[in-house]
Amino acid sequence: MEGIELEQAVELLLAKANVPKKTEEIPLSEALGRTLAEDMRADFDNPPFDRSPLDGYAIIAADTVDATREKPARLRIVGEECAGDFFAGAINSGEALRIMTGGAMPRGTDAVIRQEDVTVADGMLEVPYPLRHHENYCFAGEDIKQGTLLIRQGEVLDAPRIGVLASQGRAKVKVCRRPRIVLGGTGDELLQPGEPLSPGKIYNSNLYLLAARLQELGAETRILGIIPDDPEEAAEKLRSCLDRADLLLTTGGVSVGKKDVMHEVIKLLPAQRLFWGVQMKPGYPMLAYAAENTLGVALSGNPFAAYTTFELIARPLIDKLAGRTPRPFPRVRAALTDAFPKASHGRRFIRAHYEIATGTVSIPGQHSSGSLFSAVGCNALIDLPAGTGKLKAGDKVEVLLL
Ligand code: AMP
Ligand code: MG
Repeated sequence: MEGIELEQAVELLLAKANVPKKTEEIPLSEALGRTLAEDMRADFDNPPFDRSPLDGYAIIAADTVDATREKPARLRIVGEECAGDFFAGAINSGEALRIMTGGAMPRGTDAVIRQEDVTVADGMLEVPYPLRHHENYCFAGEDIKQGTLLIRQGEVLDAPRIGVLASQGRAKVKVCRRPRIVLGGTGDELLQPGEPLSPGKIYNSNLYLLAARLQELGAETRILGIIPDDPEEAAEKLRSCLDRADLLLTTGGVSVGKKDVMHEVIKLLPAQRLFWGVQMKPGYPMLAYAAENTLGVALSGNPFAAYTTFELIARPLIDKLAGRTPRPFPRVRAALTDAFPKASHGRRFIRAHYEIATGTVSIPGQHSSGSLFSAVGCNALIDLPAGTGKLKAGDKVEVLLL
């Protein structure tokens, strides 16, 4: 297939991607960003016991029905309980227990009066108003009831979810294996940062850009480095990774130039071509293929094209390979603060900065696919449909938030 729509490209790749079968058990403290591999239910109520929500006195509400400021209820303080203690006895009518926030409600009591509202003299507590049954009373299971589905398989463990698992005493969690990605960049013009710059050469910025994104997405990335513009050598390099990768991700060599080796490489691998060319600018020349159990995505070498197609096409695929549901991009309509004086024959994505406070979107001066610097500080892509004319400031556009 050639020149397919972006949405179709994503669908095709997602249909080919296997949800990871391998799982692993890891310490909860290392689980941030990982995908949960099984449903998690609550083993017990949390909090596990009825408790006091404040510092005060646990009492029997019925003892205070006639209490007034002038004629307070007088209760004998029989002890004290801090959070973590456990008062094993029972409280009888006419008695009270000093209790701190988080302390287990002692047997017999059904309310807590705030410390600030009482007076204490000679071991006696004076309660100046009546309390209701279960006033200032926190029930066992108020946060989580035993058996509640806490986190579903496929959800990503973020800080609140990790906190919830900890509240259930889980020290370990079963998660999907990280997606294994092999990352390389084709191009005889490429140098690795650290090497001296020489005439005709540029640094391999794509590799670092994408490695950083893969790290953010929680992938296990194997860096192949620079892949020469030689089909045999390139195919050999990629083939050697097939058994250890879910995805071969490369940039460069996918257009129609003399050194655009990826077309030849997939024949040599051998791999089945899924599609070439996606109806969008930047990044039209893009190749997707399948070799054995590994998928391949070869993006344009132009850094901003590589970045855009990575976000729009590779990222949903990586989500699926990680066992999580691909997150749709939030979309908003926003007014342009700048003109965009080019008409768009085909669908075009423009790097942009969306300002939440004003609901407006601005476009940096430089937006060619070969330039990366102006993408710094951008948080959005403007999605211009094919056939959009020149745009002026104030025009409303569709904005996709990255
Ligand atoms: P290609 O897609 O191989 O035709 O490359 C398109 C443009 O992107 C050329 O100007 C390349 O020099 C440049 N390019 C290719 N790969 C990289 C890379 N890894 N980092 C930075 N620029 C690149
Ligand atoms: Mg090239």
